[in-house]
Amino acid sequence: MYSITGLTKTYKTRERGTIRALDGIDVEIADGELVAIQGPTGGGKSTLLQMLGALDRPTDGSIKAFDHDLAALGDGELTRIRAQRIGFVFQHYNLIPTLTAAENVEAAILPANSGSLSAAERHEQAREALAQVGLADRVTHRPAELSGGQQQRVAIARALVKRPDVLLADEPTGNLDEHMRDEIWDVIEDLWRTAGLTVVLVTHDSAIARRTPRRLRIAAGRLTELD
Ligand code: ADP
Ligand code: MG
Repeated sequence: MYSITGLTKTYKTRERGTIRALDGIDVEIADGELVAIQGPTGGGKSTLLQMLGALDRPTDGSIKAFDHDLAALGDGELTRIRAQRIGFVFQHYNLIPTLTAAENVEAAILPANSGSLSAAERHEQAREALAQVGLADRVTHRPAELSGGQQQRVAIARALVKRPDVLLADEPTGNLDEHMRDEIWDVIEDLWRTAGLTVVLVTHDSAIARRTPRRLRIAAGRLTELD
């Protein structure tokens, strides 16, 4: 899925000078892997996820993925890959409060596909994605009528409805209590097992990280493999 060499990202800032957020990372992530990334705040976890997600280009090095080197692609190509291949889940759910769960998910169906879909077909795809995360009985609820864990599950359904190859999650349980953390973890693990997705998950939660097959640590922009 990803073959990464010498990946470096620097930010130039007035206050702190040049920051090496990623400092020469080499890593391979295979199709269908589930990988947890841990490490201290400011270590570079979110920056790496942005590179994996084609949200930004590195300063140096290469990211071979989706038959391209993402470091060498233009904005249009990066946008297309991001839209078609990658699902994102963040700590904050970023749902639209005035829309129901199903409408939030439908809004993420790709413009390229939605043109050829009827309203009923769009609705059905959204229902299916919500069913995949265990929310078949919450399709008409608005975010304020859902628990934090349920809102995050809607956000996961919204990422899934595009049928991505990769799911990238940046501290998806960061806002949740222990019980809801388990609930989100169960959903992500289940999707990974059943949908054949590659999942890369940033987490501070060592209980979750312990349950993933592979763990990486990033500190000061450098990556190490754990156990
Ligand atoms: P983490 O997600 O592990 O907490 P980040 O990847 O967000 O770490 O940040 C890594 C380093 O890069 C930190 O020192 C952070 O302050 C810096 N950084 C991240 N994004 C930017 C940016 N857009 N501009 C300047 N510095 C940034
Ligand atoms: Mg972060």
